[in-house]
Amino acid sequence: MAMTGERLPYLCDRLQAFGGASVFAEMSALAVRTGAINLGQGFPDTDGPAAVAEAAVEAVRGAFNQYPPGIGYPVLRQAVAEHQRRFWGLEFDPDTEVLVTAGATEAITAAILALAGPGDEVVTFEPYFDIYPADISMAGAERRLVQLRPPAYTFDPDELAAAFGPRTRMLLLNSPHNPTGKVFSPDELDVIARLCVEHDVIAVTDEVYEHLVFDDNAHVPLATRPGMADRTVTISSGGKTLSFTGWKIGWVCARPELVRAVQAAKQLLTYVSGGPFQPAVAVGLRLGDDFFDGLAADLQARRDLLCDGLSAAGFEPVVPQGTYYITADIRRFGASDGLEFCRSLPERCGVVAVPVQVLCDDKAMGAPFVRFAACKRPEVLEQAVERLAVLASR
Ligand code: PMP
Repeated sequence: MAMTGERLPYLCDRLQAFGGASVFAEMSALAVRTGAINLGQGFPDTDGPAAVAEAAVEAVRGAFNQYPPGIGYPVLRQAVAEHQRRFWGLEFDPDTEVLVTAGATEAITAAILALAGPGDEVVTFEPYFDIYPADISMAGAERRLVQLRPPAYTFDPDELAAAFGPRTRMLLLNSPHNPTGKVFSPDELDVIARLCVEHDVIAVTDEVYEHLVFDDNAHVPLATRPGMADRTVTISSGGKTLSFTGWKIGWVCARPELVRAVQAAKQLLTYVSGGPFQPAVAVGLRLGDDFFDGLAADLQARRDLLCDGLSAAGFEPVVPQGTYYITADIRRFGASDGLEFCRSLPERCGVVAVPVQVLCDDKAMGAPFVRFAACKRPEVLEQAVERLAVLASR
């Protein structure tokens, strides 16, 4: 979690850096206390398709209420395999190459615990999704971070190459990327793939925003790049795609021996979870193209609304290629510390954002940026934009 730095009694040293009150919780509490619009946390404020919700209700009334099989119900594994073929041309055997998990969160944690340990290094990018450094620490491994530099959030291929060494065990990639909204290009993925092959490293990819991609950008799974099919653990979940973030149904797709390794850790964490939501997510993954296209188009319109509003208010937003998020430079306000800025924003204009520096080891790089979530109803975003406009008039 993105921490504020307090030390917790009893908590072991390994987790001290990750155990205190998270900045997300602090900002959400601030939103409640001040009546501010919360554009901090990334969850939609409307539910997903009614047909998917109905399928969950039916499953609760039916035969899905006891422990599911350890690898997940066949109907969902089949739907995940179909989805991977339909959208990305990836082939997975639903019986041996798909594992259902408690959200992408458990999939990522289980993959890291299973595949990296003390003495191993995990290469990943910063800013990062906040569980990555915590999971790497829980595994007793070490992180090697490569910077995605604002405003374009590109990385230096030499820096990435230098992060790989004899102890590198894993490359952990999130694309489309939280918090930057970056969608890694095929050329960038090929640089990453070449290094994984050269150093015989396993890649773990977090693709939970796979369907939230805008303009001419396209999501490309790392597993499709040369040499990667057999060495990639591809992770996603139904939360963001189906707008049911509370259901926590995720999955791992990889070759059988990698799936078995991840399952060894997963079965010790939750064993199984989410019985009746599994067949419901299967219904969601089989929805027509109109649903998936509409999802991206709808979110793109919200992104544009919020980006325009942020610009008008005096921010310099980085227009994201995908995801729920927009990062914005605060230096035009004469500010340089995003944490301080976010703590004062609700009082100043009634909107909550989160500071990017809590998602970086290099605080100086993240400090001038704050992150807004665009996954709220248009009327909520319009109201937020109106409130933000007071910053421009000061
Ligand atoms: N990965 C990323 C990059 C995310 O942003 C999130 C949710 N914010 C998750 C994983 C968690 O996914 P799930 O809810 O399926 O556990």
